[in-house]
Amino acid sequence: MLMATLAAPTFLFSRTQLEGRSSISSNSHILDKRSSKRLHCQLKQCLMNGILSGEIQASHSSYASLLKECAKLSTLSETKALHTQIIKLGLSESNTILANHLVNAYVKCQSVSEARQVFDNIPQRNVVSWTAMISGYAQNGYNVEAIVLFCAMLEAGMKPNTFTLGSVLSATARRGDIEQGRLAHGYIIKTGFQWDACVGNALCTMFVKCGSMVSARQVFDKMPERNVISWTAMCTGYVESGDIGQAFNIFRLMQLSGIKPNQFTFTSVLSVCGCFSVGEPGKQIHACIIKTGFEQTVPVDNAILDMYAKCGKIEDARKMFDGMPKRNLVSWNAIIAGYSQAEDCLKETLKLLEEMQLAGMKPDLFTFASVLSSCATGVSLEQGKQIHLSTIKAGVESDVAVGSALITMYSKCGSIDDANRVFGHMIDRNVVSWTAMIIGYAQHGYAQEALACFQEMEQAGVKPNHITYIGVLSACSHAGLVDDGKNYFNSMTKDHGILPSMDHYACMVDLYGRAGRFNEAMGILKRMPFEPGALVWRTLLGACRIHGEMEAGKYAAEKLLELEPEDAATYVLLSNMYASAGRWSDAVNIRKMMRNNAIVKEPGQSWIEVKNKVHAFVARDGSHPQTEKIYAMLEKLRMQLKGAGYVPDTNFVLHDMEEELKESILWHHSERLAIAFGLISIPSGTPIRIVKNLRVCGDCHTATKFISKIVGREIVVRDANRFHHFKDGLCSCSDYW
Ligand code: ZN
Ligand code: ZN
Repeated sequence: MLMATLAAPTFLFSRTQLEGRSSISSNSHILDKRSSKRLHCQLKQCLMNGILSGEIQASHSSYASLLKECAKLSTLSETKALHTQIIKLGLSESNTILANHLVNAYVKCQSVSEARQVFDNIPQRNVVSWTAMISGYAQNGYNVEAIVLFCAMLEAGMKPNTFTLGSVLSATARRGDIEQGRLAHGYIIKTGFQWDACVGNALCTMFVKCGSMVSARQVFDKMPERNVISWTAMCTGYVESGDIGQAFNIFRLMQLSGIKPNQFTFTSVLSVCGCFSVGEPGKQIHACIIKTGFEQTVPVDNAILDMYAKCGKIEDARKMFDGMPKRNLVSWNAIIAGYSQAEDCLKETLKLLEEMQLAGMKPDLFTFASVLSSCATGVSLEQGKQIHLSTIKAGVESDVAVGSALITMYSKCGSIDDANRVFGHMIDRNVVSWTAMIIGYAQHGYAQEALACFQEMEQAGVKPNHITYIGVLSACSHAGLVDDGKNYFNSMTKDHGILPSMDHYACMVDLYGRAGRFNEAMGILKRMPFEPGALVWRTLLGACRIHGEMEAGKYAAEKLLELEPEDAATYVLLSNMYASAGRWSDAVNIRKMMRNNAIVKEPGQSWIEVKNKVHAFVARDGSHPQTEKIYAMLEKLRMQLKGAGYVPDTNFVLHDMEEELKESILWHHSERLAIAFGLISIPSGTPIRIVKNLRVCGDCHTATKFISKIVGREIVVRDANRFHHFKDGLCSCSDYW
């Protein structure tokens, strides 16, 4: 057998081969480096093959060198093969250095238990053996094991080195174990290691990660030598603990001391500014980046952009975005997410999506998640359909998150059929998708479908969450299924361990209130483990209005006004209740209260989308270019409705005025103008979709039912509370909303 080491490679290549190589590589320095590296690799491979096949009997140092290579490349199978050879030759028992290399190679291959076996069999462990094993544990996330082994090392009378301490400190930091950290700190002071730059940095970072900024600062102030890592750790630590002032202090001191912040300093500080929505400090950091002439790489630019977007400073974000010399997917997603969260920016969001695609950038799941969440608050079904098409083009429509967002988007845009179609085509469904569908059905008043969907979900073995139950309970109350609702409410905690929140209690109040069972509704209020919030009182008030339950209604309104004294809707609801009971003076008093408290009722407004354009109407609106045609259509409808037996319910007009005038006020409520416009501009056969900012009034509700029958059209109205599907003279809400 041959004895070989890396120092004597000539047995593999002839002299001329080697010379030939070096003469080629001498032409260029880069080529030289690259080809010598390649040569080196080939030699090692040959050596490895020789050893493993038993053709070459290698020296300790060759094994050591090959194990180092295995550690670098994380090649477990070769490490194991070498290990077998070493055992066969009886090398590991006697040679600590070789065993240390084995430990190191195993931990780098993430094979911690094998490393430990080798470690346990070393008869004479030195500081390198201990350090290799401890850092191996720490690197692989076995933080407790790292700390325990460190303690064993000290007990064995072994003195750690800076690497050992660095590893054990990082393990402590990841555990967030401040007590262990303090013990390590004590040991470090006793042994004088605190003057070492690496240990100081690790100690400081450990205290930051454990959330003790005071201790971190003490270590930091005493450090003889600070590097960019320690400065960055301190800075991030202060921002994370909410001490923005100190963070900036450190940031400034860092620059004064001549240490240049690196990409990580900037990105980490900026990202935290974004998470905490602190725009001003973020802006200052941005200014600092410009002032110091820091090289603006794409990650740094993205961090600035993302910070502005998350802080709601959409104009600054846009300026940043527009000025970026290079943009990647992260940049596009950041700006789109920013716009999708800003108010009234649906158009801009959609424009950006288009520009992104024109720029050759492929939108991904995150892009669509943002865009879809944005159009769920808009009104545009047409645009929603466009986005749906884009998700198909981008090949992400089958993703479960995108599918769920599409369901929510369609159901919020009023098209439960489209939502259902998306749901039906989904290959994977998770709790979010099932819940989106259940909530969609419930909001549209399709209680039976919602409950059937819930049963199907349970059969599919998907565990519901607390939002699913909001859908289920509201479906029960819409359908008047009091007993079912009660059962679901109980099983939520019993079978799924979900504690009811305020929303669930509001659903129960609604369930009993709708059914006119006020004693039970009040019972729920009393049994609630927390103070009823505005939502619960508003729900009760709504139920009282339906059933003309004056006393409970008054009580609910008083409670509601204590919590939300500025809420005009409560005053209006209460005064409407008085008015419909004929108690005019009480109604007038409420109006007076509103005036005295300077509460202004939000004017009713309705929107309709025709050919990608949204048209807005207020009551008695005369501003639309087609006003004449709209009013003519309304007049025609009024005659037809009267003939069909419609009697205006003038209780919904407050003041004690002439009946005829009341009728005319009612007849020109904003939603009727929108419906009339829809009838003259949307081809027949297509449903008319209206969005209203307030609750639909009782008389408009009745009139719309009549209209749907007379013109033979489906009319979908989304008001402040829910959806109404008017069809053939009936509404999906069963006259309760
Ligand atoms: Zn109305
Ligand atoms: Zn309705």
